[in-house]
Amino acid sequence: MSDTPERAAAPKIGFVSLGCPKALVDSERIITRLRAEGYELSASYQGADAVVVNTCGFLNSAKEESLAAIGEALAENGRVIVTGCLGVESERIRAAHPQVLAITGPHQYEAVVEEIHKAVPRPHDPFLDLVPPQGVRLTPRHYAYVKISEGCNNACSFCIIPSLRGRLKSRALGDVMGEAERLVAAGVQELLVISQDTSAYGLDLGYAKSAWRGQDYETRFLSLAQALGSLGVWVRLHYVYPYPHVDHVLPLMAEGRVLPYLDIPFQHASPTVLKAMRRPAHQEKTLERIARWRAICPDLAIRSTFIVGFPGETEDDFAQLLDWLAEARLARVGCFKYEDVAGAAANALALQVPEEIKAERYDRLMEHQQKISAELLAGRVGKTIEVLIDGIDEEGAIARSHWDAPEIDGNVYLNGEKDLRPGDRLSVLVEGADPYDLFARRVRAGTKSPEVGRHAAGAPQGRAH
Ligand code: SF4
Repeated sequence: MSDTPERAAAPKIGFVSLGCPKALVDSERIITRLRAEGYELSASYQGADAVVVNTCGFLNSAKEESLAAIGEALAENGRVIVTGCLGVESERIRAAHPQVLAITGPHQYEAVVEEIHKAVPRPHDPFLDLVPPQGVRLTPRHYAYVKISEGCNNACSFCIIPSLRGRLKSRALGDVMGEAERLVAAGVQELLVISQDTSAYGLDLGYAKSAWRGQDYETRFLSLAQALGSLGVWVRLHYVYPYPHVDHVLPLMAEGRVLPYLDIPFQHASPTVLKAMRRPAHQEKTLERIARWRAICPDLAIRSTFIVGFPGETEDDFAQLLDWLAEARLARVGCFKYEDVAGAAANALALQVPEEIKAERYDRLMEHQQKISAELLAGRVGKTIEVLIDGIDEEGAIARSHWDAPEIDGNVYLNGEKDLRPGDRLSVLVEGADPYDLFARRVRAGTKSPEVGRHAAGAPQGRAH
């Protein structure tokens, strides 16, 4: 007989995570807790004792996708617990799927774990140390999202996140930095800072001081960027608004301590539409601000999202947006056609824009931006840049540059380079570009003139975006 006590097989939970990076971080927290309690994760519906579906409820299309995911989990497994943003519409979920075991809302870690305990009792004798100190992450090993706050003090008329998640609640700087250090110690090469409003970080705490590495830091956007910038890994800032104090972070970008990248959801450029949207910083002269930022950090890449067809948007408003984009020359742009969100103030606005006009404006904006993006990327050809390897496929390595966030931006393809690993950082020579991606070749030590790649400067083939 063995000295080791027999242990019953650990209960297994399946996890389906939908929605934005913020929801992904929620999933990571729930999974970390479950692993600490001795549960295991199941990669298949069939192998799971129950399935948790972390839903998104931001747009109607996302709600439909969430309902479909719940239906799939019910059909494949039958024992389903729903959590996340759509959880606030429990009646709608119950109407579509009366068999779900339980429904909890966003950011309700305790409640969802309690429901899991009811559905699949927690193991009595979990071996300790099942969880690595940095927690369990759903992102690949070499990059991680760091959520610095929850909730939002703004009141954008198209958004219900403040009513779902409440007002801004920032984590103390020392707490965030402790997590960031553990992630870096575990091999993470890129930290992606997320929240609903990163530039407002610390406001709710009165920018209170917080200790990290024996030194006091104010809990505020600039101090956090400085502290993260000292860790020696890529630091990428998401969901920033163009407030004057953001200017102070640009020198850190110019010095290479923080990536020269800002993700700013501008949503529109017409003052009338921005006012109707009740956007934060809508009175800022954003083109002047962007010009100032570029004077400090010429390499700055800005990514943004826009909504077309917002109620009351006229052809003139839309033309202002196109003109603004032509001048702002943003590196990456996402676009949504406006749709009502249940509970949002904008639903009551008059002058809804017909669907065919929304679709037409969407196409015009994307076409307009595609030319800008193609020009900007063509300007990188012939330059040596640093990249981070995300993966390897049959054609070679897939990497990203300083100017590309994972999942949402473009890639740098290193065709023929297979002896690299995810998380490697290296210099490459850019040899070709299309409207979204770059094609490059590794710069080996002592190589003055790298060989020409098979897609150099021409139209690349065989890669989907
Ligand atoms: S800033 Fe506006 S869009 Fe973003 S979460 Fe807050 S209210 Fe919603």
